[in-house]
Amino acid sequence: MKIIHSMGSVRQTVLGWRRAERRVGLVPTMGALHEGHASLIRRARRENDEVVVSIFVNPVQFGPGEDFSRYPRPFVRDAALCRREGVSVLFAPKPSALYSTDHQTWVTVEKLAGPLCGPFRPGHFRGVATVVLKLFNMVQPDRAYFGKKDFQQLRVIEQMVNDLNVPVKIVPCPTVRDPSGLALSSRNAYLSPDERAAAPRLRRALRTAGQVLKSRRNVREAQRAARNELRQVPGARIQYLEILDPKTLSVPKKTGPFLLAAAVYVGRTRLIDNLLVRGAL
Ligand code: AMP
Repeated sequence: MKIIHSMGSVRQTVLGWRRAERRVGLVPTMGALHEGHASLIRRARRENDEVVVSIFVNPVQFGPGEDFSRYPRPFVRDAALCRREGVSVLFAPKPSALYSTDHQTWVTVEKLAGPLCGPFRPGHFRGVATVVLKLFNMVQPDRAYFGKKDFQQLRVIEQMVNDLNVPVKIVPCPTVRDPSGLALSSRNAYLSPDERAAAPRLRRALRTAGQVLKSRRNVREAQRAARNELRQVPGARIQYLEILDPKTLSVPKKTGPFLLAAAVYVGRTRLIDNLLVRGAL
């Protein structure tokens, strides 16, 4: 496995592969890699000849007061995971290589960035869409792999790729969870033992909402049931808990499907999760 820090070098390497008609998969990450990332890498390995993993903690997608400076950066361990998983290139650009002091161009996906995390993380999806398009331009992959755990991010990127005719196939991948049902996340490392014990209740509350939605056929009741369940969790604070159309991220159709999505603070740590429910009300 090659570790590459410069754009010129990653381009050169990928150009060589393309000339040899080798298919290239990209897995964009912010590092602190876990089984969730590994599952994306394995899928990319199955579907491509070469796999590039990018590790870049993207400053422009963090708001003031968010965890940019304390975000975990265990580079040596990440590189070992990539090597173990058969990654061809680990691309780890420096922030100064991605954003010049004169950076002026941004990708804004207007409607999809509006709901859910949108109001609570102003500028976040603009930062995500911009860095992902930059990585696509630098690496020029055939396919790129994204987790459904960050469902709104996935939809924003799918929309961007469609709207701007970006020649990259977006491959959505299932959320990997630990045995308690908690979605794996680099941010889980922030949780104290008590918080860690409480965190799986986010997933359970979403499942309750899913059951109520199916049995009572009522969105509001389902939302209320999940909120009530989360209010019982010590140290938890709901930021949002919404039931939306997974395609438009707006009011769901009676015919479904339904996206149940939540952001909850457990202590100081913000966790997100979601559940897709099919079928009509
Ligand atoms: P991050 O490093 O958190 O920016 O995540 C990089 C990619 O891994 C994104 O596409 C995430 O959606 C995906 N990802 C993160 N956690 C998981 C998980 N538990 N299961 C599947 N994919 C995940």
